[in-house]
Amino acid sequence: MRAVSPSHPRALRVEDYVAGVLGGNRSMLARAITLIESNAPGDAARAEEVVRELLPHAGKSIRVGITGVPGVGKSTFIESLGCMLCRGGRHLAVLAVDPSSTLSRGSILADKTRMEMLTREPNCFIRPSPTGGALGGVARKSRETMLLCEAAGFDVVLVETVGVGQSETTVRSMVDFFLLLMLAGAGDELQGIKKGIIELADALAITKADGDNAAHVEAARAEFSRVLHYLMPPDPLWHPPVLTCSSFTGAGIGEVWEVVNQFQEAARKSGAFAARRHAQTLDWMREMLTQELWRAFTREPHIVSAQPGLERQVLDGKLSATAAVSQLLALYRNSHDPKN
Ligand code: GDP
Repeated sequence: MRAVSPSHPRALRVEDYVAGVLGGNRSMLARAITLIESNAPGDAARAEEVVRELLPHAGKSIRVGITGVPGVGKSTFIESLGCMLCRGGRHLAVLAVDPSSTLSRGSILADKTRMEMLTREPNCFIRPSPTGGALGGVARKSRETMLLCEAAGFDVVLVETVGVGQSETTVRSMVDFFLLLMLAGAGDELQGIKKGIIELADALAITKADGDNAAHVEAARAEFSRVLHYLMPPDPLWHPPVLTCSSFTGAGIGEVWEVVNQFQEAARKSGAFAARRHAQTLDWMREMLTQELWRAFTREPHIVSAQPGLERQVLDGKLSATAAVSQLLALYRNSHDPKN
């Protein structure tokens, strides 16, 4: 019988996680993700090691981000597309990035009860958004969760996020293809979609193309095609198409996936696929570096005591912001000077 530490009665070793994930063991994958999501200081080092060990086995999936306002039909679409992919033999992981779940203490996205059919598919793994921490923390956890799913053998990763606020940019920066779902007849302003988000999309799909709504959807397709015509595409070699689909009838769902495949093929040929992933990895690393440096800086005792006073002086117009920054940086450098 293996000895267990009394403080961590169920603690697993790094090699247990790694072997479990590589062997495609779902419950070990779930436990490894829980370790990565943990905010307990004692877990951070083990989590880092697990990710390091699994990293060489990651990267082999197609990563697709899906966004759109609440009610546009994201969950229903993911269920319909997901079942199609699983039945076609793909291994699908569905993740969510939802910074608001930090507040609501539970994810509103990728909710198992909303994807009942998909949860029953043996090839599918669904994981709701991590909770706790700012968007930066959620983004790191989601990115590492994605890598773990890839190491476990999932070859399609769908990342769902709600189309309000900043989370779309976060998801855009971790996927190969970004799909924006839109409603017909709601107008962009009504949908809370800023022009900036449309510019991030590799394709638009107008949902609920069924019944009485089908004609509105066709009209919206023509309108959005005109809008896109005037926008700069995210990749100069790819012009984002405007598609229509119905998750109820299944019409157009296969076509959306066909477009993802066409994009992937074209982007791999042109080198844009690898270039986008490389840029994303470096951006992510620099973003983490910025966060860590900022954290170290603002915890330095000299900075902690000097910053409020300097900020006051800046607000009172007695000191320029540039001068205040110079003083703070000088204090920081001095405190790290080995001569002091
Ligand atoms: P989400 O908030 O973006 O995840 O949207 P949901 O997937 O929860 O869907 C919102 C509402 O739209 C639900 O009442 C769905 O039943 C409905 N809905 C979703 N997809 C379709 C569709 O293809 N056709 C129609 N007519 N209704 C849909």
